[in-house]
Amino acid sequence: MSDTQYDLVVIGGGPGGYVAAIRAAQLGLKTACVEGRGALGGTCLNIGCIPSKALLQSSEKYSDAAKHFAEHGITVKGLGLDLPAMMGRKDKVVKDLTTGIEFLFKKNKVDYIRGWGAIPAAGSVKVALSDGGEQLLNAKSILIATGSESTPLPGVDTDEQQVVTSTGALSLDQVPGHMVVIGAGVIGLEMGSVWSRLGAEVTVVEFLDRILPGMDAEIAKQTQRVLTKQGLKFKLGTKVTAAAKANGAVTLTLEPAKGGDAEEMKADVVLVAIGRRPFTEGLGLKELGVAMDNRGFIQVDKHFQTSVPGIYAIGDCVPGPMLAHKAEEDGVVAVEGMAGQASHIDYNLVPGVVYTWPEVAGVGKTEEQLKEEGVDYRVGKFPFTANSRARAVGDTDGLVKILADKRTDRVLGVHILGPLAGDILAEAVTIMEFGGSAEDIARTCHSHPGMGEAVKEAALAVDGRPIHI
Ligand code: FAD
Ligand code: NAD
Repeated sequence: MSDTQYDLVVIGGGPGGYVAAIRAAQLGLKTACVEGRGALGGTCLNIGCIPSKALLQSSEKYSDAAKHFAEHGITVKGLGLDLPAMMGRKDKVVKDLTTGIEFLFKKNKVDYIRGWGAIPAAGSVKVALSDGGEQLLNAKSILIATGSESTPLPGVDTDEQQVVTSTGALSLDQVPGHMVVIGAGVIGLEMGSVWSRLGAEVTVVEFLDRILPGMDAEIAKQTQRVLTKQGLKFKLGTKVTAAAKANGAVTLTLEPAKGGDAEEMKADVVLVAIGRRPFTEGLGLKELGVAMDNRGFIQVDKHFQTSVPGIYAIGDCVPGPMLAHKAEEDGVVAVEGMAGQASHIDYNLVPGVVYTWPEVAGVGKTEEQLKEEGVDYRVGKFPFTANSRARAVGDTDGLVKILADKRTDRVLGVHILGPLAGDILAEAVTIMEFGGSAEDIARTCHSHPGMGEAVKEAALAVDGRPIHI
């Protein structure tokens, strides 16, 4: 067993871990990153953000060709689906990006240690190497970035073939006849959209009486309407209590969430997407005395230090939004703090995007939160039907909604359902980082014709003076 001294050892090579490792190396810290899955990039690049977006793009092109090209005067004959080729493209995108991180590690002189890490004591990481054997790494600081895994649903065992998590849903070898998605959250709607566009009948079963909990309710309601128009079916206020496999099909037992008679639903494939939970198995945290909350998230202070000095944690395994960009920011803040710099992250300003089409995007407070907090606010809304670019493109579903403080006009929340909502939201995030007002957005020149003009118009609408409605 060899033994090496580092300033920082990062455990986990996902967006939290690999970005933290690169930033630490930039700051002059001798850094290693331990990753056990055989590729860098974590959940996000291997089985999350990237493969799902690749399939969302491919499936959208297919559905456009099948349903929307004719509107543009384009005739398609003999349209076909080559699912293995679509999956192959997705796999190549993943491979290119994950190996790209290996290149970035080399460029920044981060040591990539392939294997599973454990922390026998503060200051040391023991790695069960992928090629066999063990390596002990000594470190001034240890950063845990071990991410998350799908939350299991009691009574519904996954096999990644017929009853799948998002991982299986990214690699089905044929389009299911009927897919039942359990959970109308981000994964459910994104993966449900993929398979619906490719020809599956998709039913989304959700425990709550709404979809996308956590997002602005008005935007979520409109999203449900648009997705229903696209062919997704929703069964809200319903829980799944059991799944039985027989003769190539799965029979689910469904019950009203508020109680009542059970019913059965048959599916060819079932996707369980009821959330994710922190993954910290095998690290030895209990033995070390690292404090965790009752849901298994590692507790950290504002510098991301755990209850054990010298051990830090970031990303999906600590509380906060379970998003790749949030994990990255956590990592940067944590290592800049270790290097003596002042750095912070405001979780209120972490944008959230659902990559359905149209996209759903939001940052800051929802209208429900403002009501609950008793904040006086004004609302400005602008529909994409009145945006000339959206009309030209043929993507007019959705709206921009801006919530601003009634007295100061400071932007408190921006919520968008619409084409490229995730990208046009970036303007709002920047304005909010600077403590800007709706008037600041309204007085900013936006290029024409652009989807961003809908943001400007919604800002004008906060003051009751939109031009185009
Ligand atoms: P992870 O990415 O989970 O990385 C942790 C890594 O640590 C893993 O590679 C794991 O193998 C490794 N590891 C764990 N334990 C050990 C150990 N003991 N030793 C060595 N290595 C270890 N977020 C977005 O922002 N946008 C999206 O579009 C998006 N889409 C998603 C789609 C899907 C289907 C899923 C499942 C998630 C998606 N997410 C998305 C969420 C995003 O993937 C996570 O928030 C993000 O990956 C968290 O980063 P992380 O670095 O904290 O953890
Ligand atoms: P989620 O928390 O977004 O949604 C889970 C949904 O399942 C909720 O609507 C919840 O009410 C419902 N639910 C919970 N228990 C249920 C039950 N027993 N029966 C029926 N419904 C039930 O979780 P997810 O969609 O699994 O995604 C996990 C994480 O991954 C999220 O935190 C998300 O941020 C992240 N993610 C992000 C993106 C993105 O940024 N585009 C994409 C995919 C995943």
